[in-house]
Amino acid sequence: MRILVVEDEPTLAAQLAEALAAAGYAVDRADNGVDAHFLGDAEAFDAVVLDLGLPRLDGLSVLRRWRAAGRTMPVLILTARDGWHEKVAGIDAGADDYLAKPFHMEELLARLRALIRRAGGHASAELRCGPLTLDTRSGRAAVDGQALTLTGHEYRVLAYLMHHAGEVVSRSELTEHIYAQDFDRDSNTVEVFIARLRKKLPPDLIETVRGLGYRLGAPR
Ligand code: CA
Repeated sequence: MRILVVEDEPTLAAQLAEALAAAGYAVDRADNGVDAHFLGDAEAFDAVVLDLGLPRLDGLSVLRRWRAAGRTMPVLILTARDGWHEKVAGIDAGADDYLAKPFHMEELLARLRALIRRAGGHASAELRCGPLTLDTRSGRAAVDGQALTLTGHEYRVLAYLMHHAGEVVSRSELTEHIYAQDFDRDSNTVEVFIARLRKKLPPDLIETVRGLGYRLGAPR
């Protein structure tokens, strides 16, 4: 899962990036509205944290442009403490949730998890596919209740597949959602992660759909 953090205040931006990376997300950052708009338009994100007060192009305009262009990723806006009018304007512009500054990082993480979950049509924080479970709160995966030990990238691949269980996910889609932009990407490494995951999972849980990609569990 990959998150775009748009925040011009360097300390807060660094704290957000650090907390999100620690929670297992690939993180990209933008510190102004123009770069944010470009990134959100060109790249694949599972959610966006968007500050509204930004240099070069304000956050509301960024959000309106994304929505006008049909970009539907979940967006959580960061508003000023007493900015109720900002919240209203943000929701009207297409925001999915908001948090007023200052906020607790745990609350932001919980809201993001919920947004990503709902975008995938999942109501519960624990995702399940046959004997496989993924607790999106703790970041723990288990088979028949037995915990799996996963590397960061294996976790991201598995989390993306579980959020899209039953759907065919292409290699390039997986690559886009497990790496941040500045990472040296190689879609062949996705195959390596899949091979490693298969060794840790029950046989045939990850199906190769020839020429298309991978599918976790039975077709939807
Ligand atoms: Ca700001």
